[in-house]
Amino acid sequence: MKIQNRLWKYLLVACAFGAMFVASPVQARAAKSDLQVYFIDVEGGQATLFVTPAGQSLLIDTGWPENAGRDADRIVAATKLAGISKIDYVLLTHYHNDHSGGVPQLVDRIPVGTFIDHGANIDTKPGGATLDVYNAYQKVLATGKYKHITARPGDVIPIVGMKVTVISSDGNVIDHPLPGGGQENEFCKIPETKPNDRSENSHSLGILVNFGKLKILDLGDLTWEKEMAFMCPKNLLGSVDILVVSHHGFRPSSSHALVDGIHPRVAIMNNAATKGGNVPVLDTVRQAPGLETLWQLHYSDEGGAEHNTAAEYIANPQGTEQGNYILLTATPKGSFTVFNSGNKQSKTYAAK
Ligand SMILES: [Zn+2]
Repeated sequence: MKIQNRLWKYLLVACAFGAMFVASPVQARAAKSDLQVYFIDVEGGQATLFVTPAGQSLLIDTGWPENAGRDADRIVAATKLAGISKIDYVLLTHYHNDHSGGVPQLVDRIPVGTFIDHGANIDTKPGGATLDVYNAYQKVLATGKYKHITARPGDVIPIVGMKVTVISSDGNVIDHPLPGGGQENEFCKIPETKPNDRSENSHSLGILVNFGKLKILDLGDLTWEKEMAFMCPKNLLGSVDILVVSHHGFRPSSSHALVDGIHPRVAIMNNAATKGGNVPVLDTVRQAPGLETLWQLHYSDEGGAEHNTAAEYIANPQGTEQGNYILLTATPKGSFTVFNSGNKQSKTYAAK
């Protein structure tokens, strides 16, 4: 009894700080009412798998085309952990090869229901990697095996178990506040300019996920000038609990107006050792008001000891390529846990 009392005391003290960091030999089993989000490591691309309590799934991007299907294999491994045998929706943010390159290898390995994209490719340079990736994707669609949605800002994706609202697509962004948004954004005053993007990045299909009280933002590789369009002078999104850091943490994205303005509690960066994870973005995110933790899929070589997040929040430490993932498990009441498959440790964030 005494030991139990002490344990309870420890837990109460830990809870009082709002978050707990605990070592557990295996990831905690999600309850049936929970949302699971796997941040799959594709070495500096994107592959983020949402599995709703209703058992429906949404994969955002498919990783790279090469490496004998390495990224498709990692996605399928995550579907097995999540207990699903089909992906209902595959959303392609844009057609760069680190996002849409893995489509043919993915459909060879697992059934897919519907593809969602922003419409026509704008990086049409003959012989370029993006055109090859786009053509390969068009071939997959032409088989007639899959449903297809071209999404526009304001659209809601018809997945069951969470609300997915399109924020940006094909170079356009929402022009009206979403619930909780519409206030003046004080961070627009921070003088900041970044180069405008003329590539597929600026056409990224970005989404806001509402799950119970929780909001999760994933804008793909959307760049600075598009962020400004829905963050200044008014913040049309309101506050967001979890930010998937845009564009792997590259400089042309992640303005203060966005990162500071949405007031995230947790940010997750899908960088690689030598891709993304730029120092100014690491600093902007770590120092954002209200941020509790930055999680990174990789240690950033550029960031060094001074600018990376603390080692326990990095899934793939310096000099490793183990394909470790990060898993977010969220309850409808707003509490959530982030698990690092690299060190098998997790941190729980109380509902606010
Ligand atoms: Zn990218």
